[in-house]
Amino acid sequence: MTNVIPDSAITSGEKDTLETITSVHHWTDTLLSFRCTRPSAYQFTPGQFARLGLRTESGETVSRAYSLTSAMTENTLEFYLVLVPNGPFSALLSKLLPGDKILVEKSSYGFMTADRFVDGEDLWMLATGTGLGPFISILQDPVVWKKFRHLVLVHCVRNTEELAYQALLEGLPQRTELADGGASLTLVRATTRDAQTASPRHLHGRITTLLENGTLEHVTGHSITVEASRVMICGNPEMITATREMLVQRGMRPCRRAIPGQFVTEDYW
Ligand SMILES: Cc1cc2nc3c(=O)[nH]c(=O)nc-3n(C[C@H](O)[C@H](O)[C@H](O)COP(=O)(O)OP(=O)(O)OC[C@H]3O[C@@H](n4cnc5c(N)ncnc54)[C@H](O)[C@@H]3O)c2cc1C
Repeated sequence: MTNVIPDSAITSGEKDTLETITSVHHWTDTLLSFRCTRPSAYQFTPGQFARLGLRTESGETVSRAYSLTSAMTENTLEFYLVLVPNGPFSALLSKLLPGDKILVEKSSYGFMTADRFVDGEDLWMLATGTGLGPFISILQDPVVWKKFRHLVLVHCVRNTEELAYQALLEGLPQRTELADGGASLTLVRATTRDAQTASPRHLHGRITTLLENGTLEHVTGHSITVEASRVMICGNPEMITATREMLVQRGMRPCRRAIPGQFVTEDYW
């Protein structure tokens, strides 16, 4: 399977538009980000995902969901993704080059957005792997920096080389439009395979373990409570299920359509 497809072989339908890849960045052999042109009138709320389509040489369209990583105001769309072994879409993505075409559905989707929370002081963002993507978009939204007093991002990966977007994340508090909101940002990295823990903000272990043994609250200086904390969880479904159970045990509830809660989640598979 390949994505070396003549442009003429891809046509957009009523639901999607044909966009052009503008850049591709490989973080590791299996992690990459790409940008594409933004469909005219495309709207999204940070935390939402897009449906993307690529066509195989045989003309079949393969579509998958990918969280938007770009800021709401940018004129291109960015995605951060992992190439999964034997995945049909991953096989096409692995050969993606600037100038290639991609189908983007006109609507954005998803409910893992900060506007689901009606109150709360601290926003916790817990991500495994490419589950970081939506938080890159959320953290570039000035509204979030105004709405919460403390923003805490926990990113857990296997190895240090998989800690993507470090420069962007470190630079966020220097952006005037964000800093003016008044919130503080605490970044916590965790690796499960690299045992060297370089600093209190670079931990060793899984999110669930670090939550259960109190390490996350200790190193950030913020307690996770029903009153103060609102939690967004994204990535590996096993981590999400286990974390949900821990939050429920602490008296927290998921946000429902009509009932405000304390956490929202997005499973990637
Ligand atoms: C709402 C939503 C948003 C998503 N956003 C992103 C995103 O921003 N970035 C991203 O990398 N992925 C994201 N995903 C997952 C992405 O859609 C899959 O990576 C995609 O299914 C891969 O397609 P494929 O055809 O290559 O492999 P498939 O054949 O569809 O998947 C094969 C297997 O790979 C594993 N797998 C799938 N996705 C992942 C993953 N992300 N990490 C580790 N293992 C995985 C699962 O075991 C899955 O059964 C999202 C999924 C959903 C539902």
